[in-house]
Amino acid sequence: MDMECDLLVIGGGMAGLVAGTLAAEAGLSTILLRKGQSATAYSSGAIDIIGYLPDASEPFSTPEEGLAAIAGLYPLHPYSIIGYVDGIKPEDVVDEIVGRTRDTITWLKEKLKDTIAPLSGDFKSNIFPITILGTTKPTCLVQKTMYSEDLQTREDSVLLFTGFSGNADFNPSVAAKTYLEDRIAIGEPPRKVGHCTLRVSPFGKPYNVSSVEIARHLDHERSIEDLATQLKPQVEQLGATHVAVPPVLGIKTAMDNKKKLEDQIGAEVFEMLGFPPSVPGLRLQLALEEMYRTNGGKMLVGHEATSYIKTEGRITKVSAKAPRREMNIEAKAFILSTGKYIGGGLSGDENGIRETVFGLMTVTDAYHSAGEIIPSRYTNRIAISPEGHPINSCGLTLDPHFRPINEDGVEWASNLYSAGAVLAGYDYSIEKSGLGVAAVSGFSAAKHAIDFIKEVA
Ligand SMILES: Cc1cc2nc3c(=O)[nH]c(=O)nc-3n(C[C@H](O)[C@H](O)[C@H](O)COP(=O)(O)OP(=O)(O)OC[C@H]3O[C@@H](n4cnc5c(N)ncnc54)[C@H](O)[C@@H]3O)c2cc1C
Repeated sequence: MDMECDLLVIGGGMAGLVAGTLAAEAGLSTILLRKGQSATAYSSGAIDIIGYLPDASEPFSTPEEGLAAIAGLYPLHPYSIIGYVDGIKPEDVVDEIVGRTRDTITWLKEKLKDTIAPLSGDFKSNIFPITILGTTKPTCLVQKTMYSEDLQTREDSVLLFTGFSGNADFNPSVAAKTYLEDRIAIGEPPRKVGHCTLRVSPFGKPYNVSSVEIARHLDHERSIEDLATQLKPQVEQLGATHVAVPPVLGIKTAMDNKKKLEDQIGAEVFEMLGFPPSVPGLRLQLALEEMYRTNGGKMLVGHEATSYIKTEGRITKVSAKAPRREMNIEAKAFILSTGKYIGGGLSGDENGIRETVFGLMTVTDAYHSAGEIIPSRYTNRIAISPEGHPINSCGLTLDPHFRPINEDGVEWASNLYSAGAVLAGYDYSIEKSGLGVAAVSGFSAAKHAIDFIKEVA
């Protein structure tokens, strides 16, 4: 079977779905291939732009401040590449990067506002939502169900950490203790913190309950009323103004559930940031897919790009395989947004780290070839290490048009663009920049691809 389009996007996480939506919105016929699940769906669902510089212990208070530091110190970071515009004056580079990032965030917030994952927060300052460990982390945007307007500023706020029996992912008493100690140390609200545990039996199962199971249970009518009935006396006893729950409020009905709970218990309810499997990550993935389809994009799920044809420096066709069919897709331009090791864009074995679709050059954090780097030599012995793992910074390196380059520093194909976690030059886990880099590079790669397609048409 053969198909044709203006733009073929390979990879359906944050980067590919942002790029595909922008192209479809610009009137291009756009097809997107997604072979499996994305890191986007495993993420906490909070969109980090830039939280820390590598090695720094103090977070940035604004994304703007962080982007300026990155532009000055890491010229090959994906954010820095945005600033390489023909004829730009050196003093305007940071403004260009900040402006493009702000445009992406504003666009994304607008696009997701009527989906199951509308966003709160803005580009003016980082926010510090609470994790299920009781710690906080800097991020730029969270889903509205994860946002508290005034917990950390209201002098009389009283916070109730609420867990669920049978769900071992979250321990409300440990989280309450950690959070309170941190807040006392800096002398900031809330005034008082407490904890409680509610009973849930998703689909009749009272033990070994995962967050996804609770969320699916709460998507059903009347489940939220049962929770409200249990929660109300706990809120009244503590005098709680705010209730922190793990991220389980529902996959499709989280916004409604938050409102219903708040109306019945008389306190503000918000979800904390959690670990995979992540309900807000899943909501974000579904919302991005809806955004892409609503704007006219076509998506082939379960289809893996496996080979390609390149003629005279241009890719003309990519072949994709699904369990029961194989097809060739012709396009004028291509965006590679296949993610890293979780998405499947990079893979490592005893021969080194390679890019899985086109066999493109991969580089290390020091911009040496990663083609012969054995992954085990490029990881830190401590699993959750504050320095991160050098393997996380490996990937593709780009020209100023977001096209992957080869050993000579020249683009590998004139019509191949790339975005997201498959890129080199940053470690999202220590910088806190994962979904931000994916969104902003997806937006930038799409802009270049759209211009290219319009020129050749
Ligand atoms: C546990 C965890 C928690 C995280 N928490 C956060 C957080 O709180 N905030 C934050 O900002 N970031 C977070 N991140 C980082 C963030 O999730 C990633 O940086 C981001 O999702 C990368 O997006 P992407 O689109 O580049 O790649 P992915 O989301 O991985 O998408 C890659 C896509 O490519 C597809 N694909 C791969 N190969 C092929 C092929 N050959 N053919 C077709 N399709 C293919 C995959 O199926 C997938 O759909 C977290 C990551 C993890 C793992």
